[in-house]
Amino acid sequence: MQYRCPQCQSPKIMPVAQAGAPAARPVVPKSLVFLIPAIFVLLLLVLISIAMWIFGDGAGSGLQAATVAVFAVCLIAGFLFYRDLPDFKISMQAFMQSQKKWKCRDCSHEWES
Ligand SMILES: [Zn+2]
Repeated sequence: MQYRCPQCQSPKIMPVAQAGAPAARPVVPKSLVFLIPAIFVLLLLVLISIAMWIFGDGAGSGLQAATVAVFAVCLIAGFLFYRDLPDFKISMQAFMQSQKKWKCRDCSHEWES
């Protein structure tokens, strides 16, 4: 099993849906579903806070409270994801192994493993 294109050695490969075969999908932990948007919201709030510090007279107390709250959500989601990580890895590996057809995004070469 190789995770690189056999033609151009690019690691940018993607699975190709197999007709007839059951679509194997890695089980994405719920904590990851929470973690990614939470990090985006946190980044946004931090950027707004910085902008308000630069262009105004500091971030409002509501914004500060929201930033702290979202930061706490990120911490909790991060901790939950850290606990889910071993299961997620196993699920991803099973998915990679069950996937037989691959396509390279660099040279569009298709092959079966
Ligand atoms: Zn390739």
